[in-house]
Amino acid sequence: MKDSEFHQFFLDELKDIYWAEKHLAKALPKLQKAATSKELAQAFEKHTQETETHIKTIEKVFELLGEKATAKKCDAMEGLIEEANSVISDTDKGTAVRDAGLILSAQKAEHYEIATYGTLRTFAEKMGHEEVTSLLQQTLDNEKETDVALTEIAVNFVNEEASEE
Ligand code: FE
Ligand code: FE
Repeated sequence: MKDSEFHQFFLDELKDIYWAEKHLAKALPKLQKAATSKELAQAFEKHTQETETHIKTIEKVFELLGEKATAKKCDAMEGLIEEANSVISDTDKGTAVRDAGLILSAQKAEHYEIATYGTLRTFAEKMGHEEVTSLLQQTLDNEKETDVALTEIAVNFVNEEASEE
C-alpha cells in the first residue's frame, strides 16, 4: 500500500494542502486588517486560529502515516491569495464593497480547501486509515462552517450596504 501510486498521490496532495494552509494562515491577518466591518474582521480572526489548528492536524496526519511533514508549493492557493491582495488594492478602505470582495476571495479559498479535504478524506477512508479519515473530516467540517459564516455576513448586511455605496 505504502508504495502504491494512490498512496503517493495522497501524500503529494497532503503536502499541497499543508503549504496552502500555512500560507493562508499568514494571509488571513492581512484580510482581517483590511476588512471594513467588525463582523468580517472577527470572522477572519477566528479562522486564522482555526487554520493554525488545520496545520497541526495535517502534521498529525503525516505522523500517523509515518511520514515527515513537508510542504509542496500550491500554485492554486498562491493565486487565490494574490487575488485577495488585488481586492485590497482595487477597493477603497472603509467600504462595504471591499468587504464584499474580501468575502468572495475568502470563499474561493475555502472552496479550494473543501474540495481538497473532501477528496483526501475519501482517499484515506478507501485506504483504511480510520484516524486520518476522522481528522480530515474534522477540518472539512470546519471549512464548510467557515464558508457558511462568510455567506451569512454577506447576505445579512455587506451586500446590501455595498449596493448602496
Ligand atoms: Fe484550512
Ligand atoms: Fe479555511
